[in-house]
Amino acid sequence: RKCLNQIKKTQHLNAYITVTEEIALKQAEEAETRLLQGVPRGPLDGIPFAAKDNFCTANIPTTCASRMLKDYVPPFSATVVQKLLDQGAILMGKTKMDEFAMGSGSTDGAFGPVRNPWSYAASYRVVAGGSSGGSAAAIASLTSFLSLGSDTGGSTRNPGALCGVVALKPTYGLLSRHGLIPLMNSMDVPGILTRTVDDAAIVLGVLQGLDRKDSTTIPPLSPLLELPKKFDVKNICVGIPKEYHAPGLSEDTAAEWRRVADMFEREGARVVQVSLPHTQYSIVCYHILCCVEVASNMARFDGLEYGHRSSVVASTEAMYASTRHEGFNDVVRGRILSGNYFLLKQNFQHYFVKAQKVRRMITDDFKRVFGSGVDVLLTPTTLADATCYADFTQEDNRSRSAQEDVFTQPANMAGLPAVSVPTALSGRGLPIGLQLIGPAQQDKKLLSVAQWIE
Ligand code: GLN
Repeated sequence: RKCLNQIKKTQHLNAYITVTEEIALKQAEEAETRLLQGVPRGPLDGIPFAAKDNFCTANIPTTCASRMLKDYVPPFSATVVQKLLDQGAILMGKTKMDEFAMGSGSTDGAFGPVRNPWSYAASYRVVAGGSSGGSAAAIASLTSFLSLGSDTGGSTRNPGALCGVVALKPTYGLLSRHGLIPLMNSMDVPGILTRTVDDAAIVLGVLQGLDRKDSTTIPPLSPLLELPKKFDVKNICVGIPKEYHAPGLSEDTAAEWRRVADMFEREGARVVQVSLPHTQYSIVCYHILCCVEVASNMARFDGLEYGHRSSVVASTEAMYASTRHEGFNDVVRGRILSGNYFLLKQNFQHYFVKAQKVRRMITDDFKRVFGSGVDVLLTPTTLADATCYADFTQEDNRSRSAQEDVFTQPANMAGLPAVSVPTALSGRGLPIGLQLIGPAQQDKKLLSVAQWIE
């Protein structure tokens, strides 16, 4: 009830598309009975959560913040949602996002932009980050204790950093993508947003593991993901990638990055500068690969089986065309067009195949660094604190989006776990997040280090 009240009080943030009040109250009653009887289902029994609106939820609208799916009600729930429900966690609602998770401000959804709860600190409106901005705002404004985001190029970590909450992108395949409406199958992972690192570890422990319905899933890391009470950083080696001193990095963020690196050194960790030489090509390759997968994924929205259907029915082709024109925003349509361009016979080798090769080189950069004894990489999550809403929406959003992901998307290219932790406030009083990236399947060690800097 407190969380539901808080949702009402913070309606102006626009964090939710759907609030599932009735279902939540019923689930809460059932959980209360179990707790009073002393038979909780697990650590998440009775804990309120929110899910980004690209996770299918049985009998509850799932829109991807798009006119295309405005009235879509899935007949099944995504595996990660189902796991939370089976544990007794209480679904508060579905959160706002950029349409089909394409964007990094949560300004590009069909049902209005998300407002960053920290806007009051800057005394003007700032973006929540994205594309999982609603899920991050839901945690920052205390309307839920955990939320699901999706992370293809940074969409969980970016809003996590800008809204001042913990945001985990697990190793690719550790969490099932079944029921997560895809942006990019080869990079999508469900993301976890919480108030503390410890909470993120508990949720990861519950959600991880093989799923028959997603052939890319991998076995769980260990039955429970309890973090060590006291983590000794003396034995770890922290890498600082020199290529992450990128143009546009703000003074505040750079200073915070240095402060935490120094803190590691002072406490006895080995801090070394490392090089990931192909970083500079990552964002371009990401966008080629993303558009290509988008072009293929979006083909399912044809106005026939589900979703929006245009009333223009002069011919089947005309119906397809106007359905997609009416249903998708220009960011989505732009990516479909670009993706099909990259896939043209004469472009396929030059763009798509080349981008895949560079993706491998980016992965190999990480492998080499981790193979040389580095345990985690420490980087900023975003270039700066949250941008003023008016500035963000004025600039061309597509190029803006690309810049925003500069530190986050390489981990998706390589399938590595990465977590953003809020560590300080900027001069404007807005949260700054730092990112830790670890080797594949070392999510637990990554979280242990994250907890240390928290
Ligand atoms: N901003 C990136 C994009 O628009 C990230 C998207 C994501 O991680 N879902 O593609």
